[in-house]
Amino acid sequence: MSQSVDQTDGIPVRQLDPATFRECGDCALCCKVLEIVESEDLDKPPGQWCRHWSKKCGCAIYEKREEVCKIFNCFWKVGLIPEDLKPNKTKCVLSMYKEGYLIVSVDTAVPTAWKEGAMGRYLQGWEKPFVVQCGLDKSMVWPTPGLPIHNWRVARISNKGEVERYLKLKEKSQC
Ligand code: SF4
Ligand code: SF4
Repeated sequence: MSQSVDQTDGIPVRQLDPATFRECGDCALCCKVLEIVESEDLDKPPGQWCRHWSKKCGCAIYEKREEVCKIFNCFWKVGLIPEDLKPNKTKCVLSMYKEGYLIVSVDTAVPTAWKEGAMGRYLQGWEKPFVVQCGLDKSMVWPTPGLPIHNWRVARISNKGEVERYLKLKEKSQC
């Protein structure tokens, strides 16, 4: 049985069941959409293919890729979300900031992909604020019960500090 995502405390990483893990196969979207700053060798901005990746060969340094690449697992890969939400189909990579909130990293080729199709239907059921990143653009999204996802409040933010500030404001408003 696959795990559900805990929207309060983030992914229960230690409880993930390897039996639910999937193979990336023909997907490589994280090598484009993610920002990688932990590594001087990569130093990759979000929304641009990694310089080690090519359509013909995939990751040219796969066996020697850095730890940051080895440990990244998107929600789809670890079996937290349904099969039809595979990133290369939805154009969205779902993962969790260590602070415990969802980040949806969207392919810059389809900036509205997070609101559309199977991904839009999945996120429509999300209850907590989450972040959408598309290239250098980052926004906080506030799910509103009863409203379609296209009408949810979306606020542009510039950095992680602001994300945390927004979340604190939201917590206060709920008291
Ligand atoms: S986005 Fe997920 S499924 Fe696609 S290559 Fe990265 S980890 Fe694998
Ligand atoms: S080094 Fe390889 S696995 Fe890591 S981001 Fe680049 S192409 Fe992807």
